[in-house]
Amino acid sequence: MRILVSNDDGIASRGLKALVEAVTPLAEVWVVAPESEQSAASHALSLHRPLRAREVQPRWFAVDGTPADCVYMAVHHLMKDERPKLVVSGINHGPNLADDVIYSGTVAAAMEGSLLGVPAIAFSLVSRRQFEFEHAAKFAGALAKAALANPMPDRTLLNVNVPSHGPPEGYEITRLGRHHYTGDVIEKEDPRGRRYYWIGGTGYEHEKAEGTDVTAVLDHRRVSITPLQLDLTEQKMIETLRAWQLEGFLQVK
Ligand code: MN
Repeated sequence: MRILVSNDDGIASRGLKALVEAVTPLAEVWVVAPESEQSAASHALSLHRPLRAREVQPRWFAVDGTPADCVYMAVHHLMKDERPKLVVSGINHGPNLADDVIYSGTVAAAMEGSLLGVPAIAFSLVSRRQFEFEHAAKFAGALAKAALANPMPDRTLLNVNVPSHGPPEGYEITRLGRHHYTGDVIEKEDPRGRRYYWIGGTGYEHEKAEGTDVTAVLDHRRVSITPLQLDLTEQKMIETLRAWQLEGFLQVK
């Protein structure tokens, strides 16, 4: 049995190593991870340039692409003779809470696994500096074992966030919460006199609401496990949208 490990922080990251060690007792571990940092790469695929896969050691490959490229390459090519039974992604150096899942390369790697029919889990350590992976890795190994023993519904994945600095205060099954980053845009001038911009806010606030991932981790120091689905359809808006009566838009005179 095979487990595929990927991430978005790159092949050399400490979080990846911690996750590999955690799942090694469970199955034959394969690693296909980005050659370089791909955080916030989301679910991009490199369709318009060649990809290189560098074999670092047996069953370890660094791909010069995105997290989704890595999982695609692994399942469709590198591991095609025997597909993985589980994809685990991480352990990310930083949180993937609330809307972060939209931008996250860590979550995208797991999502790609799920799209290809392989159960998948994304793991993130909720810290901004100082990353101690001990507790997160222990939990990851146990949850990966549970995911192998229990069937997961088609086109779903788990998003796991672990609090940092010491053992967590238990765990909670959650829904995605809400949070807000300040929308900073820093404007400067490069050495040739041209303007450049640096985006990404540093200020952060989360909504306090019981049952959400942000509150579980940030207010209660619990491990948060959120089941995610790939169907983005907003069911409740289907009827609303029908009432817009757009037939006239198609009439050509
Ligand atoms: Mn990352």
